[in-house]
Amino acid sequence: MTGEREAGCGHGFSRGGAPRSTCGLEVEPRCEEHPKRCFWHCSCGEVASEKRTSAEVKSRLEEAVQEGAHLEGAFLWGAQLQGAKLWAAHLEDAMLMEAQLQGAHLSDAQLDGAKMHGIGLDRWTQCESTVWGTPREEMDGQWAHAAAVFHGLREHYRETGNERRTDECYIREARCRHLAQHGLARRLMWHLHRVVWGYGAIPWLLFAWMAFLVLLFGVVVFPAIGVEVEGSGVSHGIADGFALSLVTFATLGYGNSYPASKAGQMLAGLEAMLAMVLVAMFVVSLARKYVRG
Ligand SMILES: [Zn+2]
Ligand SMILES: [Zn+2]
Repeated sequence: MTGEREAGCGHGFSRGGAPRSTCGLEVEPRCEEHPKRCFWHCSCGEVASEKRTSAEVKSRLEEAVQEGAHLEGAFLWGAQLQGAKLWAAHLEDAMLMEAQLQGAHLSDAQLDGAKMHGIGLDRWTQCESTVWGTPREEMDGQWAHAAAVFHGLREHYRETGNERRTDECYIREARCRHLAQHGLARRLMWHLHRVVWGYGAIPWLLFAWMAFLVLLFGVVVFPAIGVEVEGSGVSHGIADGFALSLVTFATLGYGNSYPASKAGQMLAGLEAMLAMVLVAMFVVSLARKYVRG
């Protein structure tokens, strides 16, 4: 392996943390590319199919990782890596589509930019601290594939009870599904879905919207329209507007003050309806977040 650096694998590294500008590992004799590649960077037919079918690939890879090989961009399509010990492996930009990683140890492994839809994980895969970064599918705008990647990760984290990463993956999956939408109406729906409550995953956002609604009506809408206050006529004061807005939001309807015009009364109805929708959404998202099955 050493001494052949000059004539070694010609795969270029582009990551900041790379130890060299090209791989330089021993060239794979079966590689047909120019410049030639090492076993890990070769994607030529015979070598690629060996990586998909041979069980030895796993121990070879473990060895390489233990020796500190920089495997950025490695070609591991469909590789049989069940139970592989890949702690802190450098697999940025690797081709990991359909790689079988059930029970694999991926703690602190670096996978930013890796292509990974169809990877196989199970509840024994160790990836609490894996750096998934941005999958290649997401970088390339393949939103449906990217959503599938995050869906798989989310299922894994849900199964293993990692709530923080489940939520994280859920939001990223939803974002990719959002970006996969075509048509103005659907996009707008998804946009609302995101802005109003973070795709249902951020209940506290709804608090902000509730406060906004009460303030909008209390400080702007009702004072502008005028509030009919029992016994003292029409008021344009912020205190009366705010009191009416709160009572309307809570659908209390004391009846001792009400909007001065028909239009104002209809707008108050709108505030009450929006309030009910926001409160219902708040309950749903809170339950989703904290009451898990
Ligand atoms: Zn090759
Ligand atoms: Zn190489």
